Amino acid sequence: MSAIKTAAVVGGGIAGPVTALALRRAGIEATVYEAYENTADGRGAMLMVAPNGLSALEVVGVDQGLAGQPIHRMAMTDGRGRRMGEFGGLTGLPPSQVMWRADLYGAVRERAAAAGVRTVYGKRLAGVEETPAGVTAEFADGTRVTADVLVGADGIRSTVRRLIDPAAPGPRYTGLLGFGAFSKAEVPRARTDTMYFAFGEHGFLGYWPVPGQGTAWFGNLPYDEPLSAEQARATPSAAWMRILREKFAGDVPGRDLLRGTDDDELLTFGGLEILPSVPTWHRGRMVLVGDAAHAPSSSSGQGASLAAESAVQLARCLRDIPDPDTAFATYERLRRGRVEKVAAQAAKTNSQKSMGPVATKIMALLMPLATRTFLTPEKVFGWTHRYRIDWGAPVVPG
Ligand SMILES: Cc1cc2nc3c(=O)[nH]c(=O)nc-3n(C[C@H](O)[C@H](O)[C@H](O)COP(=O)(O)OP(=O)(O)OC[C@H]3O[C@@H](n4cnc5c(N)ncnc54)[C@H](O)[C@@H]3O)c2cc1C
Repeated sequence: MSAIKTAAVVGGGIAGPVTALALRRAGIEATVYEAYENTADGRGAMLMVAPNGLSALEVVGVDQGLAGQPIHRMAMTDGRGRRMGEFGGLTGLPPSQVMWRADLYGAVRERAAAAGVRTVYGKRLAGVEETPAGVTAEFADGTRVTADVLVGADGIRSTVRRLIDPAAPGPRYTGLLGFGAFSKAEVPRARTDTMYFAFGEHGFLGYWPVPGQGTAWFGNLPYDEPLSAEQARATPSAAWMRILREKFAGDVPGRDLLRGTDDDELLTFGGLEILPSVPTWHRGRMVLVGDAAHAPSSSSGQGASLAAESAVQLARCLRDIPDPDTAFATYERLRRGRVEKVAAQAAKTNSQKSMGPVATKIMALLMPLATRTFLTPEKVFGWTHRYRIDWGAPVVPG
């Protein structure tokens, strides 16, 4: 039985409720403190939960409530819509699931509430005070709460990260703005179980057919200024759509997908960010989890999945190791190598997405052979998607 009895979990996104659920399963009473009054941002973005994320969510029983669209394979096409290569699913694994970010938030929050985890909304962490016996969270509304440990699940702009290490790096702008929408256009022969990555002459577009709703797509626009979602939304959707239509005018199926998109359907995500390696994940009784510790680029398709994995591993460490410092160091040892490898691979994917026309043509020539020979699904996705956490296994400290 753990010597740690209580945890204050700051942030009610994905990592926070999953950590609280896993801690509860470990016999530690966890309360979630979320800055916003309730679900903040409407539907948000669409995101993909990979088999490794689904497996971590299964540990805390969230997999039951997920209503995603199963994606069994990924296909790459060139600017004329010609197939360059394809990756099928991995044998023995469930398909990835694509869903609205808000639906995933809703599912983890509902599961947390059903399991008896208390979530307190409208509590924005502002500071902390540590004593040898506990840690006190100080909220912007002047209230305070004390627990044995404090978990920073407060996202890519984490306050806890700064409180642990004032010199910690912040998010870095990738130079790309993110957009997405549903288009009424249907791409001939596109399959509803496939996510397509179209490398056109002038840019990259991802898309997948949604039964009864046309085609969902997402794409990036190089932009010098690092706009927040709010700042980007200050420009009318019609103006962004004009730029996007121009950019993809020569690409198949980008041209048709954008023509089939109503201006006011555009989802504007703002500047896409990555978090550079965070040197200090924990100090005293405070520790980071999810995007607060490791936020790979959204092109990894792994942010939420890694957040769920880290949440479960952190809870195992606190369950089995009585001293917070050793528990946190062990958690970091279990997690850092993996999350940094995913981030490095995502950085490579990002550079492919912003390739020029010549490099895209070379890729189009090489990709079919590569995916038939050395770039097998197992090689590309095996190490990420097959990762499983054995909840029942005892954690070895160190
Ligand atoms: C456009 C886009 C597309 C993406 N696509 C994918 C994808 O396909 N697959 C994937 O796996 N991931 C994807 N991601 C990443 C994924 O959304 C994140 O990795 C995931 O949400 C991280 O969860 P989290 O709980 O750590 O952080 P968040 O979801 O950001 O949650 C943090 C929470 O903390 C709260 N908070 C912040 N500060 C405080 C404070 N001081 N006090 C109290 N509460 C606070 C916030 O309000 C928020 O609710 C995408 C992200 C973007 C932007």
